[in-house]
Amino acid sequence: MARETTLILFKPDAIQKQIVGTVLERFEKAGFRIRGLKMMSLTDELLNEHYAHIAKLPFFPDVQAFMQETPVIALALEGEDVITKVRDLLGPTDSTQAEAGTIRGDFGFKDGDAKMRNVCHASDGPEAAAAELKRFFADDELFA
Ligand code: ADP
Repeated sequence: MARETTLILFKPDAIQKQIVGTVLERFEKAGFRIRGLKMMSLTDELLNEHYAHIAKLPFFPDVQAFMQETPVIALALEGEDVITKVRDLLGPTDSTQAEAGTIRGDFGFKDGDAKMRNVCHASDGPEAAAAELKRFFADDELFA
């Protein structure tokens, strides 16, 4: 077990559905601790960097437009094995494949946008978490 911090983004569908508090409560009830929280608009440049692994895929322009529909809320969350555990709490990328009781299963879109409008981003490993925390938070915005 490792004490880790992960980077979560509440995506525009979470903001539009006004479920940020409900989802945040799930993270806190799972025992994780908030180290940083802020609302921000994502520029094309930042999205190109954050989603570099999908930037060449045909659906990327849709993802970019979606992620700019509203500001997002960035969350730095700490706890034992938080990186894997938050991914488990979220469920798979495609909300129609996510089981009831997972965040994407309960709140993700179930129509044609099911693969895109999936409530939250969360880092998928320690290296990604370190890079993403640096990308979204300045040193003095993260608390011990
Ligand atoms: P995850 O966010 O679950 O780690 P990926 O890193 O593969 O998934 O993809 C990043 C984001 O791009 C997804 O969360 C989703 O919003 C969007 N996305 C992924 N695959 C598709 C797809 N086939 N069609 C539309 N959007 C997609």
